Parts: sequence; C-alpha cells; structure tokens
Amino acid sequence: MSNIEYKMTNFRAIFWHRRDLRMEDNIGLFEACKNSKNLIGVYILDPNLLDLNKTTSEAKNWFLGESLLELQKNWKIRGSRLLILNGDPIQLICKLSELIKAECVYWNENIEPYEIKRDKEIKNKLAKEKINVYSFSDQLIVNPSNIKTNNNEPYKVYGPFYRKWIDIIHKTKLLDNSLIESSLTPAKIAGLEDREISSIKNSDLNYCTIKKSNPIYNLLSSNRFKNTNLCPCKPGESESKNQLNYFIQSGGINSYNKGRDIPSLESTSNLSAALSLGTLSCRAVWNGAQISKNIATDEYQKDSINIWIKELAWREFYQNVLFHFPELEKGSYRRKWFNFPWQNRADWFEAWSSGFTGIPIIDAAMRQLKNSGWMHNRCRMIVASFLVKDLLIDWRWGENFFMRSLVDGDLASNNGGWQWSASSGMDPKPMRIFNPFRQASKFDENGNYIRKWIPELSHISTPNLLSGEINSSERGCYPKPIINHKDQTLIFKELYSKMN
Ligand SMILES: Cc1cc2nc3c(=O)[nH]c(=O)nc-3n(C[C@H](O)[C@H](O)[C@H](O)COP(=O)(O)OP(=O)(O)OC[C@H]3O[C@@H](n4cnc5c(N)ncnc54)[C@H](O)[C@@H]3O)c2cc1C
Repeated sequence: MSNIEYKMTNFRAIFWHRRDLRMEDNIGLFEACKNSKNLIGVYILDPNLLDLNKTTSEAKNWFLGESLLELQKNWKIRGSRLLILNGDPIQLICKLSELIKAECVYWNENIEPYEIKRDKEIKNKLAKEKINVYSFSDQLIVNPSNIKTNNNEPYKVYGPFYRKWIDIIHKTKLLDNSLIESSLTPAKIAGLEDREISSIKNSDLNYCTIKKSNPIYNLLSSNRFKNTNLCPCKPGESESKNQLNYFIQSGGINSYNKGRDIPSLESTSNLSAALSLGTLSCRAVWNGAQISKNIATDEYQKDSINIWIKELAWREFYQNVLFHFPELEKGSYRRKWFNFPWQNRADWFEAWSSGFTGIPIIDAAMRQLKNSGWMHNRCRMIVASFLVKDLLIDWRWGENFFMRSLVDGDLASNNGGWQWSASSGMDPKPMRIFNPFRQASKFDENGNYIRKWIPELSHISTPNLLSGEINSSERGCYPKPIINHKDQTLIFKELYSKMN
C-alpha cells in the first residue's frame, strides 16, 4: 500500500467510493478533485459484499443505503454525480471507464483479502487500456506497510503495536499534514455533461438512483431492518459528524474510562459503523480526541481520552494483522485449535442466537443485537466466550452470525474480536473463560441492561437476575438455563488440554 507518485494534469476521471462514504477529509477524493477536469463518482453494489448469509446484515445495508443517499445528494449539490452500479466491480469499473473515456480512476485502498485481490485485477485490466489508477491510504491513521517491528516484521501483539503506532503518529506529524490538505471538502466538482449521463443510463451498466420515495433500490426497499430508532449508529456523513461532536461536547469522551464497560449507560461513541463504512474519517476521530485532550481539566479526563484512543488503535491493529496475515480470515491462528472437537449443537446455537439460553446477561445481549443491530463491546466479549467455552460451538459460527446481524460488521474487527474471545488468535494471554454471572454482577450490577432487553424479567429481583437463579413460578415463558456453566467449562478445559 503506497501512494503513487503522479503528475498533476487535467484528467477525465472516476472516483470510486468503497469504505469512504463521505466528501470531507477523504484523501483520494480530494486528490481526484484537485487533478481532474471532469470527475464522476461511483459506488458499486458488489454481491460479494452484500451477501446476507455471509458478509452483511440488514442493519448494515440500511446504514449503507442511507449513507449512499446522502452521498449522492452531496455529489449533485457540487455539480457532479455519484453513480450507483450493481454487479461485479472488475467488469463495471472497466466498462464505465471505457464508456466515459476516463483517463484515470481514483480510490482509497482497503485491506481485506478479497478487496486487495479485486483491486489488483482491476488495476491490471485498466493498465491494459492505458488507464491509470491512483490509490491512497485513507482508511487507517497509519498505513500498515509503515508499521513494523525493529526486525522489520509485522506486529502480532497489540501492546507493542500500540506503542509504535502512537510513536509514528507523533513523530511524523502525519495527522497535522493530512489535516491541512485533506480536511477540505470539495466545494464544486465539474462532472460530465447530461448527455453523457444519459448514455450511461441507457447502457447495460445497471445504473440506479436512490430515492427515498422510489423503491428502485432493493437494498433499501427490501430491507427488513425496521428498528432504526433502536440502532445507536446513525447513517450518513452529517450524522456521523454529529455523533462525534456529541461524544466530545457532552463529555462522554472525558468519562469514557468509567462508562465504557457498563452496557446500560450507553456511554461509548457509537461510531463503529461510521468508521467501518467511512462516513467519518479516522483522522477526524483522532483530531477530536486531541482537541478534547487540550481542553481536558484533569488527569482523569486525559486518561479517559487516552483509553478511547487505545480503542481506535485496536481497530487499526486488527486491520494491520488481517492485512499482513490474510489467513486469519479462514480460521484460527493457533494450530492447537485446528482440530478442536466442537460439539456444534444446532439447538444450542439457536438458543444463543435468538436470546433464549436462560442466562439473562447472554440473552439480553443477543436481544440487543437482534433488535438494534448493535451490541455493547463488553457484551460482545461475554456472549463470544459463552458460545465457545460454554456451548462448545465453533467460534466461526458466532463470527458469521455477528456479520449477519451487526450494523458495524467488519471483517477485521469481528474476526479479531472472535479470535481474541476464543483464545485462538495472536493474543499471547492465557486462556480466558468469562463467567457470565460474575460478568453480569460486575458490569450490570443493578440489572438495568438485562431488564431493558428482557422485559419479561423486569419483575425479578436483581440478585436473581444476575445469578440467573429464577424460580419456575416467576420465570413465566423465560427458559431454564440450557447448560450449567461450571460443568461446561470443565468439559471445555478437558477437551482443550487434550489438544497438541
Ligand atoms: C466478538 C467481537 C466482535 C466484534 N465485532 C466488531 C465488528 O464487526 N465491527 C466493529 O467495528 N467492532 C467490532 N468489535 C469491537 C467493538 O465491540 C466495537 O467496535 C464497539 O463495541 C463499537 O462501539 P463504539 O463505536 O461505541 O466504540 P467505542 O468504545 O466508542 O470505541 C471507538 C471506536 O474504536 C474501535 N474499537 C473499539 N473497540 C474495539 C475493539 N475491541 N476492536 C476493534 N475496534 C474497536 C471502533 O471503531 C469504535 O467505534 C467486536 C468485538 C468483539 C469482542
């Protein structure tokens, strides 16, 4: 991943949006605007990334569709167009370039194995037609190619990665430079003539417009995710910015240290979907944190902000490891797990995924996911540990279920989170097994989170809610626990100890 040196000329160009659904602080778009005479935007609805059985969820499609709607408006306001095409990007980018006689194509680089392979193929095809590709590093604060150990190896452990990451940012003043240039939003973009747009419409490119009132666009019209008011991640560039500002101005960032582990407080930033689909830039969140630090009034506030920055670094860490070790996508990193005798009981998986295991904290979390398309980080860790170490179900089932459910589903962070929870990844820490009852007592001590998501248990006393010991006379239709935590973890440990 490196920025390509190129001469500035007045090109006729295409800017391809992928995980950067914004106009502001978009490095590739900024460069494209600066160097093009006529510029048109494109987003491609790629079936490989829109597979509801594997790569996306209804909630994420809602976020995507609404964000595209705003982006399309923003292109139009500035005088050009954002085309939404449907199909295989390899074919479509080449066809579109040919149709409008583009001399170059701009995009921001991505790190997922599929995306890297796709981009390589497109670059090769375009090169044959003498069409240049200019790609930029925009998705991460530090480009993965620039962050290596002293032995010039990619990092595998978060702690040292974080120290190097912070060091690079401070030393290179990377962000200050990019801020000067790329935070500028293009005010005006010279597009194509109307007759050219018509010729695209009349071609076989499957061009579509998104209109709220016009269900031309399947992604939105067929979408069954209706609880948009319950989803804490709000789509679109302007809402993402509002959410960041709110997190900073309301002081959420200053008390993050205290609030971040208490799911009932809803005190995290809710920016995960915005960062994953790029309705907000990673530099904007970094800069927001720096501004907060400058005006923080005490050490506690500064510590809180630093802890939040460490979370941003987790995002970068997982993208780094996936970039350097693409095999992570396929399964466990540690060999020891390759032949683990998973029990994979379908009825237990069904109980887990629908929020009916009989263990309140697990069910509350899974119902939060089902209803809102999002789950608090603490709860993601609790339910993941439970699936793997109590139910003995392959963590990849959970990973896949999360991708099919989360509004912020993101291969790198999701795979990283699951491998961390399963203890199958690069994390050198010893085996972690979360006790769901202890976790509930520590992080939901008043039972507020459980009561919110399992209203049929709202009458149960807090100690019983947390311990899961609920009388049959009181439990109504709520199920008995499907397993005994102590027994299951003994079985798990026994199976694990037999692995080489
Ligand atoms: C099993 C499991 C699966 C996960 N799947 C995803 C996923 O698909 N997509 C996703 O974005 N995050 C995932 N996470 C990480 C984390 O749970 C979410 O990023 C976080 O809950 C989002 O809430 P927030 O935006 O309010 O985060 P905040 O606490 O405000 O953090 C700010 C930002 O930092 C990043 N971040 C925070 N924690 C993590 C983390 N542990 N790993 C990576 N990035 C982090 C996110 O971009 C987040 O928006 C997963 C975690 C686990 C344990």
